Amino acid sequence: MAKKTAKPRKTARPAAKAVKKYVYAFATGKAEGDRTMKDILGGKGSGLAEMTNAGLPVPPGFTISTAACNRWYDEGRRLPQAIEDEMMAHVRRLEKAAGATFGSTTNPLLVSVRSGAKFSMPGMMDTILNLGLNDLAVEGLKARTKNGRFAYDSYRRFIQMFGSVVLEISKAKFEHEFEAVKHAHGAKVDTDLAEDGLQETVARYKTLVKAETGKPFPQDPLAQLTGARDAVFRSWNNDRAIKYRRMYEIPDHIGTAVNVQKMVFGNTGERSATGVGFTRNPATGAKEFFGEFLVNAQGEDVVAGIRTPRPIVELADVMPKAYRELRAFTSRLEKHYKDIQDFEFTIENDKLYMLQTRSGKRTGYAAVVIATDFVAEKLAKPAEALLMVEPGALSQLLAPMFDPAEWKKVPVATKGLPASPGAASGQVVFTSEQAVVWTGQGKKVLLVRKETAPDDIHGMEVAQGILTATGGMTSHAAVVGRQMGRPSIVGAGALQIDEKGKTFSVAGQTVKEGDWVSFDGLTGEVKLGKVGTTQSEILQVVNGHMKAADSDIYRRFSLLLGWADKVRTLGIRANADQPDQSELAYAFGARGIGLCRTEHMFFGEGRIEKVQRMILADNEQDRRAALAELLPLQRADFYGVLKAMHGEPVTIRTIDPPLHEFLPKREDLMVEIAKLEATGSTSAELAGKKTLLKRVEQLHEFNPMLGHRGVRLGITYPEITEMQARAIFEAACQLAKEGIKTAPEVMIPLVGLVKELKDQKTIVDRVAAEVMKEQKVRIKYLVGTMIEVPRGAVTADEIAQEAQFFSFGTNDLTQMTFGFSRDDIGKFLGEYQERKILDRDPFQSIDTAGVGQLVAMAVEKGRKTRPDIKLGICGEHGGDPSSIHFFHKVGLAYVSCSPYRVPVARLAAAHAALSVKVGD
Ligand code: PEP
Ligand code: MG
Repeated sequence: MAKKTAKPRKTARPAAKAVKKYVYAFATGKAEGDRTMKDILGGKGSGLAEMTNAGLPVPPGFTISTAACNRWYDEGRRLPQAIEDEMMAHVRRLEKAAGATFGSTTNPLLVSVRSGAKFSMPGMMDTILNLGLNDLAVEGLKARTKNGRFAYDSYRRFIQMFGSVVLEISKAKFEHEFEAVKHAHGAKVDTDLAEDGLQETVARYKTLVKAETGKPFPQDPLAQLTGARDAVFRSWNNDRAIKYRRMYEIPDHIGTAVNVQKMVFGNTGERSATGVGFTRNPATGAKEFFGEFLVNAQGEDVVAGIRTPRPIVELADVMPKAYRELRAFTSRLEKHYKDIQDFEFTIENDKLYMLQTRSGKRTGYAAVVIATDFVAEKLAKPAEALLMVEPGALSQLLAPMFDPAEWKKVPVATKGLPASPGAASGQVVFTSEQAVVWTGQGKKVLLVRKETAPDDIHGMEVAQGILTATGGMTSHAAVVGRQMGRPSIVGAGALQIDEKGKTFSVAGQTVKEGDWVSFDGLTGEVKLGKVGTTQSEILQVVNGHMKAADSDIYRRFSLLLGWADKVRTLGIRANADQPDQSELAYAFGARGIGLCRTEHMFFGEGRIEKVQRMILADNEQDRRAALAELLPLQRADFYGVLKAMHGEPVTIRTIDPPLHEFLPKREDLMVEIAKLEATGSTSAELAGKKTLLKRVEQLHEFNPMLGHRGVRLGITYPEITEMQARAIFEAACQLAKEGIKTAPEVMIPLVGLVKELKDQKTIVDRVAAEVMKEQKVRIKYLVGTMIEVPRGAVTADEIAQEAQFFSFGTNDLTQMTFGFSRDDIGKFLGEYQERKILDRDPFQSIDTAGVGQLVAMAVEKGRKTRPDIKLGICGEHGGDPSSIHFFHKVGLAYVSCSPYRVPVARLAAAHAALSVKVGD
């Protein structure tokens, strides 16, 4: 067919220059964005847009996009005039939609300015409420609402928030002024203060601002808005936000959006309220409407944990109409989003407004319950349900519980709100700093706080559990504890905490820093003392100590993973060296061993002496004699591992580490020798130690990781490979005679040259033939290699001539590609991450741009030579969800990881097959 040539159109107009949009409105039933625009609008902005479009009562507003945030940083912390103009146009539109004007003395527009990134980062960034108030507008608000107390309460809150967030004046200074006024007026709680007290507070606050900044409190609402917006942009890079992003692997470059929305007020009096909630219980997953509210309050009061809020079901009595509407709207949202929703609402004079909806953060336990319930309720299909569970969260289900018998013995000291399940037992600390220091010393700590602030995140990260005296189920401590899978109890009001004195008292007893306390995050019970923990229910079933039928969570766990198995194409194997580990791995769903490190068996009881004798031998004959003693032991191990895998492939690696790892340390030996000599000893023991020292010195290497290890040992001491091959094949033959199928795969480590592999393969094949002849049994086996030396990856086409399989040893491959010692990277990794030279620890999450390219190259080259070559990975990355996505993409057949990570890997492999990026 003739190629069409496009004729130039006579009427061709120059293409309209696409004007990039940075601000998106949502108002009165119509929004410029929707749920698909999380990248641009952030989670909160896209939720507000979606709810507006769905006709829900959402106060009007606009979202300044994440792209604007990035421009702000790119342009040296300012926005180009065009974007400022675009925002101003939206301010005017909002004034129209809201029927109110900024700064008006009769009907002033007040807005909230709130952060909202693509991934929710609870409490990490800044928010400002009641913006638009000034000395005149406050009077306008008073006139319009006929409520002077409310107007001045709103103004004092605004100055306080703006003062601390935008003007960076310490919150404590505002608190100090407020306390002074409360004291003077004899007010116990905030709500006891009348209008005059609040006016006095406003006056004091303004004086404080002037004293701290040298300027009066800004009166121009537009200047307030710009300042607040920039402060939210700035808060993207505050310390706690950065730390949070590191923890949850949220990229730094995506920025936050800013939502500017007309204020509605939960603090106009007894007919107003504000609250937060979940469509299901985020701690247990139970299908119950869950949340809390406060009458006559603003949103911050609920989440900050200052006043303990009321359970949401009580709203049905206080404001029945609003409650009914709230139930209806949130059920609709749950169906629409096909996920549990975390919502915020405000009721202003009996009228309900929806302020936020997003996927609710939940514990691993709840995630599994909710996902399986959604399928049972026909709200989601199995593939959708799989995506509702973060693979890493499954580890929480394997966390320990208290031994019920021991737990019963200790009396309950108090009860709090069960915010995040799990057993926690540790020594009490009262600050996050102390938690970090003690954990560094190997202690188990329990962080006890009156309330937690977002700054506590580092303490919460290391603590066994978090216990607070105030706050509700949605307070910061609860939300973050749940997400981390950290057992948490909040609102344990009976605790009398003296943070300065580092003690608390409860039930007539005083607990000091360092004392042991235990609690159950599922029931909320707190006990004084140390209580032993026991295996999780799932582990008990897996280990055969509990019947599967008796465990609801096990049933759901295996149902979910069964769905995952149907979807995934990656095989899952385990790294296991012992029969019991292999059995556990099999029970968790591993179908094969990807790496059996034979040297781990050398450390077993009564073995190390035999291994040392082998190493000490200075001639082949003596070495063979020592190896002959090791043979039956290795054979027994391989027998157990092969049997536990029920005919699934078992990759057994020949010896890998440098030999001196099996010998005592030079310094220790020298001390022992010196001691013996000091006693004038001439014993055989002394002579033996001297020989050992000589051999240790001979084996000393400057760089053992790059020294005499891996295949190099097998080449210089072929009798070791021979013994190991014999042990493997004798075990397999024995099993075959017992009618048990096996599929051994012999793996040679650290190969960089095809001739190295050929040398070892010749030995393995010869021994296999000999054993099978002796035993008169035939078994199928493979011989392959690890690809863990960069040269091995680059020459994978040559190596595949000999190798029937490759298993990527990404630990060594990462070490040798970066030239970072896997044992010493800790010395500089932190600084690399802080300075953004590296985003992640490459030993945890595969470096796709570098190490990953070597893997991809080796896959391609290996397949070119041997199209049916078996490809897998057995480095630690095999249990890391984001790395699993990469391995799926490059087309490996399986990943292999530790037995406890197997469930995580099964789910991550299903996610990869469903092509969803981790974190999406
Ligand atoms: C590897 O290097 O990735 C590997 C699995 O081997 P090892 O960790 O034993 O060196
Ligand atoms: Mg290795």
